[in-house]
Amino acid sequence: MKNIWKLAAAVLAACVLAGVPTYFAVREHNAFRDISARADSLQTEADSTKEEVESLTKELSDARGQLDSRGRELESVKGELDSASSERDKLASQLEEAQTKIEELSKPAHFDPDGPEYQQLFPDFYAPQPLDASKAPDGVIYLTFDDGPSARTDEVLNILKNENVKATFFIVGRSGAASRDRLRAIANAGHTLGMHSWSHDYKTIYGSVEAFLTDMYEVFKLIRDETGTAPTYYRFPGGSTNSYDYGIYKDIIAEMLRRGFIPCDWNMSAQDATKTPLPASQIVSNVLSAGNVARGVVLMHDSKPRTTTVEALPELIATLRSRGYTFAALTPDVKPVVFNYKNFDVE
Ligand code: ZN
Repeated sequence: MKNIWKLAAAVLAACVLAGVPTYFAVREHNAFRDISARADSLQTEADSTKEEVESLTKELSDARGQLDSRGRELESVKGELDSASSERDKLASQLEEAQTKIEELSKPAHFDPDGPEYQQLFPDFYAPQPLDASKAPDGVIYLTFDDGPSARTDEVLNILKNENVKATFFIVGRSGAASRDRLRAIANAGHTLGMHSWSHDYKTIYGSVEAFLTDMYEVFKLIRDETGTAPTYYRFPGGSTNSYDYGIYKDIIAEMLRRGFIPCDWNMSAQDATKTPLPASQIVSNVLSAGNVARGVVLMHDSKPRTTTVEALPELIATLRSRGYTFAALTPDVKPVVFNYKNFDVE
C-alpha cells in the first residue's frame, strides 16, 4: 500500500516536474506568438506608412514638375506677349508712315523742292480735279460775267433761266449774306463759278506771284465753302496780260497751272466796263463785232452799274442762236482762250 502511495507520489512528482516547465513553456510560447503578431502588425503599419510617404514624395515631385512646366509655359507666354507687343509697335509705326504717305499722295500736286518758294503757299489751294482742258467744240458760245455778284446777277440769272442758257461767273470778293446767297443761286442753277480776284486791285494783286496767290486763294475759299465745289477756272483782272503783270504773268500762269487752275481770257467782248453804261444795242454790236468765231468766250460784266448789259442779254442770245451757236458753261475739260501766251496751248 505504501508503495502505491509512493508510486502515486512519484507519479505526481513526475507530473509536477514535467508539467511546470510545460506550463511555462506554453505560456512563453503564447507570449512570443503575441509579440510576433504585434511585430507583424507594426511591420505592416510601417510598410504602409512607408508606401504612403513614397506616394506623397512622388506626388510632391510631380507637383514640382508641373509647377516647373507651368513656369516655363508662363515664360514662353510672356515672351510671346513681348514679341506681339513689339510687333504691334512696329505695325503702328508702319501704319503711321502709310497714313503720312497717303496724305502726301492725295494732294493734287507736289511742289518742286528746288522751285520757287511760293509753290509751298496754301497747300489746299489746288483745283479739285486733274487738269484736262482738251475739249474745244466748234459752234459753242461761253457767256462769262465778271465783277459780280450784285443785284444785276439776279436779273442775269432770270434771263439765263428763261433762255435755257448756262454761263460762267468770275466773281470778286464780296462776302456779305446777299453775295453768298447769289453764289449758291449761281451754282444751284447749273452755271460755273470762277475766280476773278478778291480785291480787284491791280497794284496789289500784280505786285508779285505771292500777292496774286494770296488774293485768289480768298476767292477760292469763298466759292468752295459756300457752294461745296472748288473752282477750276480763273480770269485775270484786266486779262492775262496787261500793263501791270507783264513781268510776272507767265510765272503766275505757270504756278496756277501747276495747281491745276485754268486761266480764261476772251475773244468776244461787250466792252461794257465803261464809266457810263453803253446803250444795250452798242453792247450787242460790240460782241458781234468779233465776227463768226469757231467758238466764242464772251466777256460781260454783272456788277451793279451794268443795267444795260442785262438789257442787251436777251437780244444777244437770240442773235447768236440765229447764227447757229449753242451755249454752255465752262467746264474743266474745255480748252481755254488765253491771250498772247505762246508757250501755252491756245486754240
Ligand atoms: Zn474785272
